[in-house]
Amino acid sequence: MELSFILNELGEDRENYFNAISPPVMQSSNFAFKTVADFRQAMANEFEAGIYSRGQNPTLNILRKKLAALDGAEDALLFSSGIAAIAVPLISLLKQGDHVVAIKNPYNWVEKLFTNVLGKYGVTATFVNGNDVQNFIDATQPNTRLIYLESPNTLTFELQDITRIAEFAKLKGIITMIDNSYCSPLFQKPISMGIDLVAQSATKYIGGHSDIVAGVLTGSKALMEQLFNNEFMNIGAALSPQTAWLMIRGLRTLPLRIQRSFETAKLVTAYLRTHHAVDKVYWPFNPDHKQAELARRQMKGCGGLFSFTLKNSSEEKIERFCNGLKHILMGVSWGGHESLVMPVLASINNHEYDVANERHQMMRMYVGLEDPEYIIEDLRQALS
Ligand SMILES: *Cc1c(COP(=O)(O)O)cnc(C)c1O
Repeated sequence: MELSFILNELGEDRENYFNAISPPVMQSSNFAFKTVADFRQAMANEFEAGIYSRGQNPTLNILRKKLAALDGAEDALLFSSGIAAIAVPLISLLKQGDHVVAIKNPYNWVEKLFTNVLGKYGVTATFVNGNDVQNFIDATQPNTRLIYLESPNTLTFELQDITRIAEFAKLKGIITMIDNSYCSPLFQKPISMGIDLVAQSATKYIGGHSDIVAGVLTGSKALMEQLFNNEFMNIGAALSPQTAWLMIRGLRTLPLRIQRSFETAKLVTAYLRTHHAVDKVYWPFNPDHKQAELARRQMKGCGGLFSFTLKNSSEEKIERFCNGLKHILMGVSWGGHESLVMPVLASINNHEYDVANERHQMMRMYVGLEDPEYIIEDLRQALS
C-alpha cells in the first residue's frame, strides 16, 4: 500500500461525515442500538463493534487502520501511552514460571516492568548484550516464552540483528516483541523482518508536537483480538478520541518531520564529531558506529536522537554546558518540533556521579525542526 494513500485516505469514510477532509472527533463514551438483535450481535464481537470507547471508537478506528498499514501488520491496538502498549501485551502473554530474554538497557520503565512488576508474578528475565545474536541463543531456557528487543535503544544506540533473532525465535516457538519508537514505521519495518509484536511510543514522532502521550501495538489480527478480549479491556489504558485525532493529524506530516529530523541530525552529529571539546557521538548512522553496516541494512533512515560526551567530562563541565544552552531546551522525551538535551547527570544524585562511568557522562540530544544552523550555533556558544 502506498504511504500517501495510508496517510491521506485509508480508513477515512468522508461521505459519512459531510465530506469533511478532517475526520470528526467522536467524543462519545457509548453507542446506541435500535434492536436487541443488533445489540447482541455487537456484544458478541466487541473487538469489531462500536459499543463503548474503552474498546473501540470510530475516530480511533481510522487511526488503527493507518497504523496497522504503516507497520505492514494485520491489525493494531491503541493505548493511552507507549508504556501501556508495552506492558499490556507482556502482562497478557507471560505467566508464572515463564522466562524472557530482553536486551540490556531497554527504555528504563521496561526494565522496571520486568524486574519490579512481572518479577512479582513469577516471571524471570535475562538481560543480554543485544549486539550478538549468540547472546540470545545462549540465554534461552526451556521456559523462554518471549524475546524483547529495542533496536536501536536510546542513550547507547545499540542495534540487534532483527531478522536473525526472529528466525531463531520462530524455530523455538518463542514470541518476539520490539520497541520501534526510535525509527517509527517509516524507517524500520520489524513485521517484515519476522517480529510478532511491534510497540511504539506515539508520544514521540507520530504525535510529533510535544502535546500528547499515546502508544501503539501492531501484530496479527489473532493476537490483537486475544489481547483486546483480555488484558486490554481489563487494564483500560484506552486512548481518548481527541488524542487519536491529534495522532491522525500528526501522521499527515510524519514523513516530512522525520526526514527533516534525520537530515538535521546528520549535520549536527557531523559538527559535534569534529568539535575539539567533544569526545564521542553515539548515532547509528555515524560512519564510525560499531554497527553502521547493520544499521544501514535494516534501517531506511535514522531518528534525530543521539548521545554525546565531552572530553574531560566533569560534572561541573556538563552542567555548565547544559545551563548555557539558549534555544535547545532541557527536558525528557523527544520526537517533537523542539530540540532537547537530557544529561544522564540529571537522573543521579550529585555524590553518585562517577567520572569513570561513561553512562554518567552522556547527554542525550534530540534535534527538532528548527534550522540546523540555529541548533549548531547554540551548541557552538555553549561549548565555548
Ligand atoms: C518514550 C518512550 C517509551 C514510553 O512511551 P510513553 O509514551 O512515554 O509511555 C518507550 N520506549 C521508548 C524508546 C521511548 O522513547
